[in-house]
Amino acid sequence: MPARLLIAAYATLVGMPVALGWLLVGPARAWPDELSSALALAGFAALLLEFLLSGRFRAVTGGIGIAQSMRWHQRLARALTLALLVHPFLYTTPTGPQVLRPDDLARAGVLHLDAHALVTGAIGWLLLGVLTLTAIGRDSLPWRYESWRLMHGLGAALLAVLGLGHALRAGRYSAHPVVVAYWCVLLALAVLSLVAVYGLRPIRLARRPWRIVAVTPAAERCWQVVLEPVGHAGLRFRAGQFAWVRLDRPAWSMREHPFSIASAPGGDGRLAFLIKEAGDFTRTVGSLRPGARAFVEGPHGTLSVEGRGEPGLCLIGGGAGVAPLLSILRARRRTPAPRPAMLVYGNRHEGQILAEDELPTLGVEVIHVLQEPPPGWAGETGMITRDLVARRCARAAAAGWLFLLCGPPPMMREARAGLAAMGVPARRILEEGFAYD
Ligand SMILES: Cc1cc2nc3c(=O)[nH]c(=O)nc-3n(C[C@H](O)[C@H](O)[C@H](O)COP(=O)(O)OP(=O)(O)OC[C@H]3O[C@@H](n4cnc5c(N)ncnc54)[C@H](O)[C@@H]3O)c2cc1C
Repeated sequence: MPARLLIAAYATLVGMPVALGWLLVGPARAWPDELSSALALAGFAALLLEFLLSGRFRAVTGGIGIAQSMRWHQRLARALTLALLVHPFLYTTPTGPQVLRPDDLARAGVLHLDAHALVTGAIGWLLLGVLTLTAIGRDSLPWRYESWRLMHGLGAALLAVLGLGHALRAGRYSAHPVVVAYWCVLLALAVLSLVAVYGLRPIRLARRPWRIVAVTPAAERCWQVVLEPVGHAGLRFRAGQFAWVRLDRPAWSMREHPFSIASAPGGDGRLAFLIKEAGDFTRTVGSLRPGARAFVEGPHGTLSVEGRGEPGLCLIGGGAGVAPLLSILRARRRTPAPRPAMLVYGNRHEGQILAEDELPTLGVEVIHVLQEPPPGWAGETGMITRDLVARRCARAAAAGWLFLLCGPPPMMREARAGLAAMGVPARRILEEGFAYD
């Protein structure tokens, strides 16, 4: 779905309960009360839509990319948290008796907060705060990523149930049958997305198993893992894309990790990944056994040069971030008349350079940048900074080349700043980050 259509669909779905409430129920109350209800209705709709946004569905992420959809998921979650946390404090209407007064069938004169509405509201309010704070501060928590993810998913599901209970019991607009039906539809979509992610997707993956055929050292604390398809044709992907991979784990395991595919599409159907030791799982990659099973979910990502008409390619990568760039360069080598390309490749020291022997054979100008160069080093030294990018990529920028960035966040920031300083428009910059924060 193209980004504009996605934004329009999202805004419509979030605004719908507010519009339905205002159209179907009357009379309007004081503006702080109407604002409070609008925040609650839109916030709860947004909360239910978060399940779709974070579910890695191609219909949602296809046009904008996974990184962007995760960014939206995080930012919208913060906005909806604020809306839902603030809304109880805006009401000016007094709290009334628990039974509807015959003269106030539209619930305009009192807030009908019974024990059920209070308990679901209060627990939901606290849970929402905890979920959002633990997501923002995830890296500082002493939990494994998978434990956090399980807690986040279960907490969000509980929150949806509490929110629905609260809305149906306390909500003035949510008492209308049409709005109730709307909540049922959004809740059904959220439940279906959970069923699709944790039920149907693993079943589909289990039908397309892979086998680990090789695990070899690729550079210091970095491994090349090669997979081959078992009983199926493999994965159709574009050079530069990535996949969620379960290595030596069942298809339904929560231990899945995103890795860029470093090999070129086609060939014998094998996939190569370059995996840098970063945390508890990646530190065990070197001990994976050839012959063990694997499952590959993808492809994902929009770091692709297919369909791009720019006259040349300038790739800027840092560390393992060169993996998708290698895939692009390997695919480019197979084309009959490849466009000119250059690679600016940063590492801390020489021992970390990936595909060091292969790079000179790929027909691209390679500019190595080392923070700790060996004696007699003739290449660039230090980090990939905006000045270095401006100096080494000026020709490519002036010639209208396409820029592809992948590396650690500081490198990406510097590269973006360097390109912006040279006036390279955003549409000529494609990037993939290795983290969603
Ligand atoms: C699109 C993308 C492509 C990537 N490609 C590569 C690659 O080609 N080579 C490479 O070495 N690394 C790549 N990474 C990074 C790699 O996924 C993490 O280093 C790895 O998952 C860390 O797992 P861990 O258990 O060892 O470390 P942990 O300590 O558990 O995690 C470290 C950090 O990695 C991220 N992470 C961990 N698990 C997941 C997960 N299941 N989903 C999303 N993020 C997670 C989280 O931000 C976490 O804080 C990529 C990341 C992304 C998002």
